[in-house]
This record gives sequence, structure tokens and C-alpha cells, in this order.
Amino acid sequence: MLEFTNTDYTGRKTLFVEVILPLAIAKNYTYRVPYEMNAQVAVGKRLVVQFGKSKLYTAIIAAIGEQAPEKYEAKYLVDVLDDQPVVNELQLKFWEWMAAYYLCHTGEVMNAALPSALKLASETKIVLNKDYEIDRAALHDKEYLIVDALEIQPELTVSDIAKLLGQKTVMPILKLMFEKNLISISETVNDRYKPRKRTFIKLNPIYYQQDQLKELFEILERRAPKQADVLLAYINLSRNGQQVSRNELVEASGASTAIIKSLVEKEILIAEEVNVSRLYDDSEIDIDTGVVLSEEQQEALDSMRRQFEEKDVVLLHGITSSGKTQLYIKLIEDVMARGKQVLYLLPEIALTTHAIERLRKYFGEDIGVYHSKFNDNERVEVWQKVLNGSYKVVLGARSSVFLPFADLGLIVVDEEHETSYKQFDPAPRYNARDAAIYLGAMHQAKVLLGSATPSIESYFNAQTGKYGFAELKNRYGGVELPQIEVVNIAEESKRKTMQSHFTSVLMTDMQEALDKKEQVILFQNRRGYAPVMLCRTCAYTPKCINCDVSLTFHKSSGKLHCHYCGYKEDSPTVCPACGSAHLEYKGFGTEKVEDELSILLPDARIMRMDMDTTRSKNAFQNILNDLEEKRIDILVGTQMVAKGLDFADVTVIGIINADSLLKYPDFRANERSFQMLAQVSGRAGRRGKQGKVVIQTYDPEHRVIRQVIENDYADLYRNEISERKTFKYPPYYRMIQLDVKHKDPDLLYQQAEYLAGELRKHFGERVIGPEQPLISRIRNYYIRTINLKFERDSISLNKVKEAIRAVVLQYETTKLSKGSIVQPDVDPY
Ligand code: ADP
Ligand code: ZN
Ligand code: ZN
Repeated sequence: MLEFTNTDYTGRKTLFVEVILPLAIAKNYTYRVPYEMNAQVAVGKRLVVQFGKSKLYTAIIAAIGEQAPEKYEAKYLVDVLDDQPVVNELQLKFWEWMAAYYLCHTGEVMNAALPSALKLASETKIVLNKDYEIDRAALHDKEYLIVDALEIQPELTVSDIAKLLGQKTVMPILKLMFEKNLISISETVNDRYKPRKRTFIKLNPIYYQQDQLKELFEILERRAPKQADVLLAYINLSRNGQQVSRNELVEASGASTAIIKSLVEKEILIAEEVNVSRLYDDSEIDIDTGVVLSEEQQEALDSMRRQFEEKDVVLLHGITSSGKTQLYIKLIEDVMARGKQVLYLLPEIALTTHAIERLRKYFGEDIGVYHSKFNDNERVEVWQKVLNGSYKVVLGARSSVFLPFADLGLIVVDEEHETSYKQFDPAPRYNARDAAIYLGAMHQAKVLLGSATPSIESYFNAQTGKYGFAELKNRYGGVELPQIEVVNIAEESKRKTMQSHFTSVLMTDMQEALDKKEQVILFQNRRGYAPVMLCRTCAYTPKCINCDVSLTFHKSSGKLHCHYCGYKEDSPTVCPACGSAHLEYKGFGTEKVEDELSILLPDARIMRMDMDTTRSKNAFQNILNDLEEKRIDILVGTQMVAKGLDFADVTVIGIINADSLLKYPDFRANERSFQMLAQVSGRAGRRGKQGKVVIQTYDPEHRVIRQVIENDYADLYRNEISERKTFKYPPYYRMIQLDVKHKDPDLLYQQAEYLAGELRKHFGERVIGPEQPLISRIRNYYIRTINLKFERDSISLNKVKEAIRAVVLQYETTKLSKGSIVQPDVDPY
């Protein structure tokens, strides 16, 4: 601890800061500010603090005061990291709201909100930034040591680095190194990215004249022969007007970067840092604002503008390809003209190059993109640009609600019904659409929800007048909706006209499309080859050793995989239980569809798009490119294929088995099935040609299938809303789910019963369960679920949540709760 004996310090104010730590702790923690840092502390700045035994964390200042904490002696903070706050007060409020609403801790929200590089802790792993050419001559001593160490040991923790330098905290040094792009956070994501920035070298134009250059050579050869070599190498490399990067020059000349640097200092060479674009080529973007809206579009736009004068949220229900995006753009222009910021949320999967390019056309360089597949340095870069105001529009997935907006005017939530807006794990288990509505209210911004298949909740809010509402009922340019044909699998099986999983109808349509050089998309809602392996002799089924699920066979790996924990094992050739060789596969996934299709249509170029084929960073985009450039005839995929693909030549869509959607045991099964089927169908026959959709099912009379064929969302809504009312589901009831987990199933049973009992004391019949969930064990934790349902308006949800928090806290102090994990999930769907 620091001690001030110097009398100069007496009489100065003693300040305390309340900070948020990136941990699941219930309260903010207070630290004492050393006098000499009094002027540096400000709300939203980052600090280095010690917490727990001896670990250092990055914390955010939430408040500053003069009051020492009562229960403990405040430690001194270690260091102030920022000159300017990196988080603004609105964000801090937003974090608090989120923690309260979703029954978690502010530190967990902070963890989700901040890119890793902004919250270094002792255990954070650092690596060199391989996308950046390090100019060693420009490094300070300590940076040099760190870079050297990372070249020998590619991954070091922050505390390793502190030991290396022999000082308590190295976070300020690391912070600068991040800013210079020298280092990165070690990430598990598969990064195969182009360099972010490259330095290009040019000859100073004054030497373009032949005799000038000759003279220069003569001088250099006499005085600095190595520099002459570099120059020669440069001339060679640039012969055909080629650009020369510093790295190429180093390689070709065998000189060090220091020599190049001295040539630059002498102004013989000119060094230029160029942003190598990650996603698109800037030069191809031309500003295009000459869109004329159709009459229907114009009406919808006028109506939305009018409604926004009174309402904060408007729902735009527009069928696929009706031109919703065009309307978003108009509204964004309105808001930008008033100098305000815009957040445009898209589901992760729809955030494609195509979507980004389209918006860049209108908004040029002002638009930032925030994506979970970006690496941490890139995320920090977007963060900083939003913070300093250089990005006015951000196009982003779920987590972009956390960016440091100061003055939002509009939030667009495209495909607002999408489940991917919900984060299921870890906490905060938030829905970005709902969070966006709160965020909008905080900024007094307008929120536009758009979808071809709105969620029942949002539609309900529009129907009851809470939200405004606008509609687009026609596809732009009069393109017709696809023709939908439902084929009965049972009938075709009886007639023996099925070829493996394909009905004769689908086979014929696919063949015709291929003959016309058109493309086909097939949808199967399961990945892998076969979800169940079964012994015909003794009925044994291989299960995961960690989870209560059967293992899925993957042909590409030859292994059985668990889709919940990632466990894999070799696929047995004889039954491990009875030794029989009669093993068979039940069910089928995308791999099997692809496999059998390649036998039935040997000339077709088939590609698969699911989680297994799109793991690496650019894989998804590459498949889209191949589809666009017609290197693929048939694309087989999971729900990924339903999202935002827009290709002119896709004329046939096949849904291999609609029943797996319709039979899903969940109160939203009908809603989800309708959304999925309508969205997949919407991929057919955009831009001009009418498409065809083949839905294969055992249940052709199913109500939802009829609603999809008739494109009758209103009918779906009527049915669903009355069922929701009858069976007490959202939007009439609010749901909170508590998952109780423990490694011991018997103990868990007692714990869950106890906890449910305590909750019943407060909420009586509103508590349902505990029940065994569909998958009752994941990663060796047994799970029991308690559900709570509350009438929509007749009860204060804030009070309910406070009470739940108190009950859980009380439970956690009991002996019984040892080893137990309780995970609240608010709006668990
Ligand atoms: P949605 O978002 O509703 O699915 P899009 O905005 O993608 O629909 O529009 C579908 C297609 O129609 C796109 O190719 C788009 O460029 C085109 N389009 C929509 N409105 C117009 C318009 N007013 N003028 C020109 N093209 C339009
Ligand atoms: Zn067996
Ligand atoms: Zn498992």
C-alpha cells in the first residue's frame, strides 16, 4: 500500500471509486484513489485493480465519491488506464438495466459488452498480432522485450509479462501495444484473415527522372551500399507498376526494416500505411441514391414516419423481397440528416458481404460493421470509432447493442423474429431485440422492427397499439411468390416412388432445374449423417458420456459426435453391448442428404452448408460466393440456408422433412415452423423468376403447412394467440425459467424441490415444476427446470425479480445448495 508522509498531501480530498469488475459478483466494489490520481479518475474510465488473492483486473468506474466502504477497508486502485472514458453513462445505465431485467450481475454484462482487449486481466492470454508487420526499430525497450518473448513463447498471460518485466502492472504498456496493433488477445476462433494494415513503399517522385535516379545510385553505392541494394530491389519489384509492400522489399533485398526506415527518413522512399480491407473492396463502392420507391413502399414509409411522431416502436411486416431494406435506408437517411447515430441489427448469419456492400452503397465510409467472427482487435477498432463519432451507422449482430453510442436516433432490428437475437449462454441471457427497445428508449431513439414473419409478441404489441404498424404485401417489381407443392412422403413410400429421402416430385423438379442451369437449395434441419445409431439385435444406442443424448454419426470424421458438449468417439463396427454386427442408422442429417444426392445426381455440383462446414471464418462467405458465381448446383443445409440468401438463379427449394420442425415439443413450434418454412420459401425466385418450393411431409394437412402455402400470417397469428391465452404463454404471460444444475442427480432432485418450494411461498401456483428437461444432463451436470409464469400486466415484474433474486440468494446460503448452480433465464425463448 502507498503511504503519504509528505505533508503536502494532507488536506487533499480522499476519493473512492465504485467499480464494475468483469465477474459474477453481486455488488460493485470500492477502491481508494491515490491522491496523485484524483484528477485522472472519471466515470467510464478503466482502472487496473487488485481483486481476490493477487489477481489484477480491468474494472470500469461506475461512480466516484468521498465515502469509504463500511464493511471493508478499501484497497488503493493500481492504475488509471484511460485518458478518456471508454464507456459512457448511458451504457452504464444500460448494463444495470440488463442485469436487473435478466437476473444476472452487472459484471457479467460488462463481460459480454467489452471486447477482451478492453478488459485485460492477469489471466488474459496475449499473442503477437500476426496480421501486422512489426517495425522493430520503432519499439520501446519494454515493447521490444515483450515482442521478443512472444516470438519464443507464442502465448503469454498478462501476469507472465508482468513477471518478465519485473513490474506489478503492465496493462498500460499492453494497452498502448494494442493501440499500435502489435499484439492481440489469444482467441480460439479460427482466424484466417488478411493483414489489417500493410505498409507500402514508393520511390519519391523526384527520382522518376532517369539521371536523378542514376546519380542517387552512384552516391548510395559509395556511401551506403546496403541502401543501394534496397533501392535496386525496389526498382525490380515495381517494374510493372506493381505496388511494393515493405515486407516484400525486406524479403527481396535481404535488408532490415531499419535500412528501409533510414531511406524513408532521407525522403528517398515514401512509406504509406494502407488499410487492407477485410470484407470488401472500397474502390467498388459508388454512391447510389437514385432509388424510386413503389407506391406501396412510399405509403408504408409515409405511414411509418407519421407513426414515429407518436410511437417509439413500429413493426414493419413485409413479405420476403418486398423491399423492407429500401425503407430502412430511407429512415436511416432521415436520422443521419439530423446528425444522430443509427444501429442496424441483423442476425449474425445475415451479416454477409452482400448486405454490407448494399448499405455501403448508400452510406459510404460512415458505416461500421460489428460481427462476432471479427477478432478482438477489429472489435476494439469499431468500438473506438463509435466512441469518437466517426461511425454514424453501425451494422451489427446481437452484441452491437453494447457499443458506446452517445446519441442514437434510430435502431433497426431486421428479422426481428430471429432466435439468434437471444443469447442462451452464458449470462446475460438477453434478447437483443428487446434490449434494443430499452436502449432506444434511453436514447429517445425510434425503433423499427422488420420481418416477413413477425414474432407473435411483436405482432401482438402492434395489434394492441403499443407499437405502430406498417405493411408491405407485395414483392417488389411484381415478382410472384413461389409456387408451393406439398408432397406426402407416406403416399410416395407406399407407391415406392421415393428415392432415398427424395420424393419423385422433388427429384423431377431438381432435375429440371439442373437441366435449365438453375440452382436448388435443400433444407434439412439436422446436421451430421445420422442422429441415432441402433443395434438391431439388442436395441443398444450409443450415448454421450457427458450428456443425456444419443450421439450423431458424422461420416466425414467417421466418428460419433455429441452436439451438446463436443465429445467424439470412434464409431463402433460391432455393438459394444451384445457384439452383434447388425448396427443401423436412424434418421438423417445434412451429410446423409448430401451423400445420397451425389449418388442419385452424380453430375450435380453439391455443397453442404451447416455448422460443420462453416466453422472457419470465411467458409460461410465462400459458400455464398460459390453459389453466386454458380459453382454450386445444389446447396444442402440447415436453417442457415433460410437466412437472407438472395440469388437470382435459385428456383427450386426442397424441404426434406417438415415434420421435424412441426413436431418440436415447444409452445412456439408452430410459430417457428411457419417462420422457417416461409423464410426458406422466400429464397426461391427472387429477382424475376417465379420459384417452386417442395415441402415433403407425413402430415400434408397440417394447419401450419396450409398457412405457409396461403402465405397467411394473419391466420397463424389468430390461432397462436388464442392458444397462448388458453395455455398461459407469452405474450399474455411472462416466463422466467430457473435451471438448477448439479453433478449428483439425487442431490439435485432435493435442491430443485427445495428451491421450488421456497418460490411457491411467494408465487404459489405460478411456479411450475421442477421438471426434467428434454435433455436432462449436459457436460456432466444434471439439470432440473423450474418455470414461473406471471400475468402480463397485473403484477410488477421488477418486484417479482427482486423476490426471485432474494430467494435464490437465500437458497445459496443453505448447506443443501452446496455445489449447485442456479441459472435464471428471463423470457427463455
Ligand atoms: P426484403 O428486405 O423485404 O426481403 P429487399 O429490400 O431485399 O426486400 O428487396 C428485394 C429486391 O428488390 C432487392 O433486390 C432490392 O434491391 C429490390 N428493390 C426493392 N425496392 C426497390 C426499389 N424501390 N427500387 C429498386 N429496387 C428495389
Ligand atoms: Zn447390441
Ligand atoms: Zn455430450
